[in-house]
Amino acid sequence: VSIVLVRESASGERRVAMSPETAKKFTALGARLLLQRGAGLPAHFTDAAYAGAEFTDDADAALAEADVLVCVQPPDNARLARMKPGAVVVGLLAPHADPARVDTLVSSRLTGFSLERLPRTTRAQAMDVLSSQAGMAGYKAVLIAAQLAPRYFPMLTTAAGTIRPSKVLIVGAGVAGLQAIATARRLGAQVEGFDVRPETREQIESLGGKFLDLGVSAAGEGGYARELTADERAEQQRRLAEHLKSVDVIVTTAAVPGRPAPKIITAAMVAGMKPGSVIVDLAAETGGNCELTRPGETIESGGVTLAGPLNLPSQGSLHASEMYARNVYNFLALSLKDGQLTLDWNDELIAKTCLAHAGERRA
Ligand code: NAD
Repeated sequence: VSIVLVRESASGERRVAMSPETAKKFTALGARLLLQRGAGLPAHFTDAAYAGAEFTDDADAALAEADVLVCVQPPDNARLARMKPGAVVVGLLAPHADPARVDTLVSSRLTGFSLERLPRTTRAQAMDVLSSQAGMAGYKAVLIAAQLAPRYFPMLTTAAGTIRPSKVLIVGAGVAGLQAIATARRLGAQVEGFDVRPETREQIESLGGKFLDLGVSAAGEGGYARELTADERAEQQRRLAEHLKSVDVIVTTAAVPGRPAPKIITAAMVAGMKPGSVIVDLAAETGGNCELTRPGETIESGGVTLAGPLNLPSQGSLHASEMYARNVYNFLALSLKDGQLTLDWNDELIAKTCLAHAGERRA
């Protein structure tokens, strides 16, 4: 098989789906690699680092030859349509973001695997792009918060007196939230976290954070949270509003699969915070956990700075790409042997991620 990597076309996307390390592993499985020149550069992988790969300047020519296209975000639909029938596309295909994408996969008889649909099972962990990328997002979100804050994070004892550590609250303790807690702790802040899944208490505490108990528990299916009822939401908000008056920094990461981000921080809560407080809303991409968030912008409201950064994993493109590329490799390795690609439709990891195959819609 020919595995192809072309430059990412989505604006601001600096991650790449194949690293020099995974290129070597693909070659060892008998694959031929064809790369657009410079495809790895946004993640600081030079062409020379991809030992054994072939290169072209012409992305369309590479796509036309691909048996497998690996990507972070997919090329636009017109480009996808130029791939040959039967070719496989693996990446974050985000079918809900662009319904025409699945139509294109179907009409062009492409096989599309959307890695964000992988079940969160033990076997899928090595391919779990949501986890590998969320970790980077949580880390960067805390660094942005520290950068925007007019306060130190750590406690400092100086000749000019003692500085109290910042109080940082992490909202949502999934993969991103737990990495945010660990990062804020390493910077010396006093860290609290909360989540609606009760098992997060122990996870937050094991990272040196304090569990903020808002009296709401809403575990859903598959290890995820469910949406809160109106009563639960009111209770969470009443307790939170009081608590936020003493918090210096909030990083929000709460999400419910397939739903817009839950609105947890209201405008009134922001108004009640101390001047100089900072909120970084990691959920900006899906609408934000704060009512005032403007995706992609940093604004000020009553002395509180509010950032809604987009695509944070891309800011850590080198490590995010190394991990993403390993996830992609581990997924394709299920089907690659002796240079041949054989898809096992009885494997739930293959079946559940598939959006389209052989001219049929699978999702
Ligand atoms: P996510 O991105 O869907 O959500 C982030 C967090 O927000 C979750 O912890 C969720 O409980 C929380 N949340 C939702 N609504 C909230 C609210 N109203 N208030 C406060 N918090 C709220 O989650 P994720 O990071 O993708 O992880 C979800 C779960 O999957 C976690 O338990 C994680 O450990 C688990 N997981 C398992 C595997 C595996 O076993 N293979 C891999 C990755 C993640």
